[in-house]
Amino acid sequence: SIDLEKIPANTGCEDLQELDKRYLWHPFTQMREYCREDNLIIERGEGSYLFDTQGRKYLDGISSLWVTVHGHNRKEINEAIRSQAEQVSHSTLLGLSNVPATRLAKELVRITPEGLSRVFYSDSGATSVEIALKMAFQYWQQQPDTRKRGKQRFLTFSGAYHGDTIGSVSLGGMDLFHSLYRPLLFQSLKAPAPYCYRCPMGREAGECGFACLEEFDRLISAHKDELAAVVIEPLVQGAAGIITAPPGYLRAVRERCTECDVLLIADEVAVGFGRTGSLFACEQEGVSPDLMCLAKGITGGYLPLAATLATEKIYEAFLGEYSEYKTFFHGHSYTGNPLACAAALANLEIFERDCVIEGLQGKIERLRQGLEHFHALPHVGDVRQRGFMIGIELVKDKATKEPFAPALRMGHRVILEARRRGVILRPLGDVLVLMPILGMSDSELDQLLQVTYESIGAVMSEMTV
Ligand code: PMP
Repeated sequence: SIDLEKIPANTGCEDLQELDKRYLWHPFTQMREYCREDNLIIERGEGSYLFDTQGRKYLDGISSLWVTVHGHNRKEINEAIRSQAEQVSHSTLLGLSNVPATRLAKELVRITPEGLSRVFYSDSGATSVEIALKMAFQYWQQQPDTRKRGKQRFLTFSGAYHGDTIGSVSLGGMDLFHSLYRPLLFQSLKAPAPYCYRCPMGREAGECGFACLEEFDRLISAHKDELAAVVIEPLVQGAAGIITAPPGYLRAVRERCTECDVLLIADEVAVGFGRTGSLFACEQEGVSPDLMCLAKGITGGYLPLAATLATEKIYEAFLGEYSEYKTFFHGHSYTGNPLACAAALANLEIFERDCVIEGLQGKIERLRQGLEHFHALPHVGDVRQRGFMIGIELVKDKATKEPFAPALRMGHRVILEARRRGVILRPLGDVLVLMPILGMSDSELDQLLQVTYESIGAVMSEMTV
């Protein structure tokens, strides 16, 4: 413990490290382990780099948890926030509206898949999912055909991650994060995710005939009268370890939902805003969901904001007189915050002005070529890439795919090694996650891969000594 009286008013960086350990409780962190290790206090950012209080420079290889889009400290976004602050920093959307929230809603409807026409704001990915859940549930409760009111359940996928609030955890399929809370949760149905490296159906990738989809088909058909919605992370399950779905999977899920009269909720919190190489992942398979959740990259990584988009059909089911109880009873103090909406508008302007999406293809190919070398490393079992989302799965034995014992904390060791070499990464178990900032230059992308490669090599060679 530290004596606060003794900390000088002009706190130096050493003291901030102590204060961090003394007062903060970090997310998803075993604090005993955290307090034993060196902690890094970030002071500023510039482009693709973060700088700590001691002036050390780090390449931000995870886009500050998948949110930074064009880079840190972009003057256009800073300026948009600054000039909005001179107008008004917050006013409520309860009974009032504001300028940037209105403009942004129009933009979001314009750029998202066809059919999505209404925007409901909140402030994190988890809340955008909660809102979609409640909207889907209430939508069916308000159907004139009373038989439809039995549609109250949700179907999701093994390994799913949709946030940390109780509703979004109820959709989750990651035992490590979710199983403890089971007594607090509602039950959702689970279909096997297309995790081709470790196929849940025991098949070989490419020769499986979409066996996992058959199981999805069976579940959705058997339960269609009880199902409100299917919730999916389109193209890539992020937190499960960058599980990339084979082409056609998302489209097939959309088709089955339509056939079975079940809503489709696309959680684009992680994959939205260019991550997979298109502005939204759904575009790549020509899919229009009934509800779509956006957060993370929506403000380019500057301020917390989220949006749930709905079709006109869903919106209209909520129209009526106040006394009919069709109102959507949901909202947050900071819903539609003007500063965050102004940042989001500036973020979208950069996408268009700089033709960011068009410029991504060359970088994605560069990453793909660079990643080919990783297969040669003895403990790299699988390398998965979809656009700017990369997962490198470390295994004890490549032939049998046997994982390392979790207590060895291999993923964690590699990221500490990378940090010593000036790159910030983050593991998900023994999957190393690389989420480059879309604005990274070719040489920064090369540095990211090079340091990751060397760090894996260094940690593995220590293991065998
Ligand atoms: N959905 C997905 C697919 C996510 O990856 C995440 C966060 N990683 C969330 C929801 C939750 O977002 P937030 O952390 O902003 O609540």
